[in-house]
Amino acid sequence: MTVETHTVGVEVAGRPLDGRKPVFNRVVLKLGGEALLGESAIGIDHEAAAHIAQQLRSVHERGVQVAIVVGGGNIVRGIEASEHGIDRVTGDYMGMLATVINALALRDAIEREGMECRVQSAIAMQQVAEPFIPRRAIRHLEKDRVVILAGGHGSPFFTTDTTAALRAAEIGAEALLKATKVDGIYTADPHKDASAQRLVHLSYMEVLNRGLAIMDSTALTLCMDNRMPIIVFDLFTEGNVERVILGEAIGTRVDAGPAGGAQ
Ligand code: UDP
Repeated sequence: MTVETHTVGVEVAGRPLDGRKPVFNRVVLKLGGEALLGESAIGIDHEAAAHIAQQLRSVHERGVQVAIVVGGGNIVRGIEASEHGIDRVTGDYMGMLATVINALALRDAIEREGMECRVQSAIAMQQVAEPFIPRRAIRHLEKDRVVILAGGHGSPFFTTDTTAALRAAEIGAEALLKATKVDGIYTADPHKDASAQRLVHLSYMEVLNRGLAIMDSTALTLCMDNRMPIIVFDLFTEGNVERVILGEAIGTRVDAGPAGGAQ
């Protein structure tokens, strides 16, 4: 894969550059809808969006190309809507539309941080977003624009994790960064089991065989088939996105192996 390198700025989020080089040139950042919830139970907290944009700025200023795949779970999830009697396919389209709403909120926050940003959608809505065109997305990235990929991949019965795995392969990303509210994958639920340990490195097969719920199996097997490394990390610790792109050992890395043990 060829990735155009960028002129890296002299400052990172107001701090002088410290000479550390990113380990990735191009990444897909998967943000679940919950990242936008903030203190709210549903919808978008604009302070949470602003906070994400600030974290992104420090990565962007290091010259890393970032495409964001955003979820919609803070507004609608098809499967949850169907539990209330809504037809599953209709619910899934509602979920995909929710991701577009989130994408617009995020774009606004990103632009307010001084970065250029484009939204591309898998569902045609020409007044609101460009269509998703992989080469065009790549061109935006090469021009230092953050790209938000909305609308899932346009088909019901899928998730935005699967979309992120697919888009990462399509645009030649070097890693899929899965931002969550926990700091990695654990041997057990750390909220329920005090002896739970964080796993720092796992193979795709280990995640599948152990039934670790970091993402759905379709997303995971897509990453496995395309040898796309996944890094699961905690978005809510300040500076973590930057730490991941600088190669610091935070969170859990999932790749072809060999698998490591607990921290
Ligand atoms: N969705 C879909 N197809 C896709 C992506 C998403 O049908 O390709 C729907 C699905 O209903 C899903 C909702 O959009 O529940 C929101 O996406 P997701 O649950 O992945 O959001 P997240 O949990 O990341 O916030």
